[in-house]
Amino acid sequence: MINFKYARASDVADALHLIATDPTAKFLAGGTNLIDLMKMDVERPTKIIDINRLPLNQIERTPNGGLRIGALVRNTDLAYYPLIEQHYPVLASAIMAGASQQLRNAASTGGNLLQRTRCHYFYDTVTPCNKRKPGSGCSAIKGHNRMHAILGASEVCIAVHPSDMCVALAILEAKIHVTGATGDRVIAFADFHRLPGDTPQRDTSLETGEIVTAVELPPQGFSKNYTYLKIRDRLSYAFALVSVAVGLELDGETIKEARFALGGVAHKPWRDPQAEAALRGQPANTATFSRVADILLRDVKAYEHNRFKIDLARRCVVRALTQAARGTPQVQSSKKIM
Ligand SMILES: Cc1cc2nc3c(=O)[nH]c(=O)nc-3n(C[C@H](O)[C@H](O)[C@H](O)COP(=O)(O)OP(=O)(O)OC[C@H]3O[C@@H](n4cnc5c(N)ncnc54)[C@H](O)[C@@H]3O)c2cc1C
Ligand code: SF4
Repeated sequence: MINFKYARASDVADALHLIATDPTAKFLAGGTNLIDLMKMDVERPTKIIDINRLPLNQIERTPNGGLRIGALVRNTDLAYYPLIEQHYPVLASAIMAGASQQLRNAASTGGNLLQRTRCHYFYDTVTPCNKRKPGSGCSAIKGHNRMHAILGASEVCIAVHPSDMCVALAILEAKIHVTGATGDRVIAFADFHRLPGDTPQRDTSLETGEIVTAVELPPQGFSKNYTYLKIRDRLSYAFALVSVAVGLELDGETIKEARFALGGVAHKPWRDPQAEAALRGQPANTATFSRVADILLRDVKAYEHNRFKIDLARRCVVRALTQAARGTPQVQSSKKIM
């Protein structure tokens, strides 16, 4: 039995005060990742600070026509929120592609951003893992690395970020609102998650003692030409081998604006400005999409068991761009289940 203290924060200031007095404490939202990590002895917080009573469960319009999503809005509530379904359907679709209905009912927006990798070795405390214990080594590089990264990995960690929601937030260019002892700050989504580099123990640019308060969406939501395509080992309740979120603006057959991001291939949702630039002004056809997939995969690096991901990623990119261009987005099988 590993003892820990439990405290319930009444507001954001109280949560910040509680964590400032104990920097090894952890915030508890839905608990769907943190409690698993504690049960497996990966996380050993001395204190849990329950933030579920904080007033961060609202979705509000912003003055510029976007939306502000409180960090405690549950994944199900977000996916079914009418303005999200209408204006940001790629986000609703990505959320519905993740986990199970019960998990989505409990999981929060902030917790989804901060969930940790599903690398088996990270969860297995008897094996070396630089993310869990810096300097101990990476068991995945020469081990079972079927789920691991093909882009942006380092010599010390080849883990991938497991979130579906975050892949959609990447193309929406969301902003993350955080608060800490020194005040509020806003982090561009592209800067929130990190590549592993030499410090794989740090998943994000969130500083110790900071709390995520909200995710802000800009007005642009790609409500017509979008898709979220997720390929996994079974149709539901499995993490992505490769996923692709796409948002396009078309002028007839010509691509005016293009954004796409991949999940399951890197330590963070993977966007490539060069590949996106190669779509703009081009005809929306298979030749364009194939050329763009080649650009995206120019620096790809696979390991013994995940070479299949290179071809899978190429085909997923072409298929997802085709779906978005045709206005025929991927339908998530769990969309109708409540
Ligand atoms: C079996 C299973 C299958 C899953 N499948 C998928 C899947 O296919 N796709 C997918 O995307 N996800 C999947 N998930 C992951 C799930 O989406 C996450 O566990 C969930 O989103 C985490 O949210 P939470 O509120 O429960 O976070 P918690 O577990 O409460 O917290 C996670 C981390 O975030 C921190 N935290 C939480 N809120 C804040 C905040 N506001 N500010 C600062 N820190 C905070 C906590 O301290 C903790 O470190 C799966 C999970 C399980 C258990
Ligand atoms: S890939 Fe990263 S998380 Fe997995 S064992 Fe290596 S260091 Fe640990």
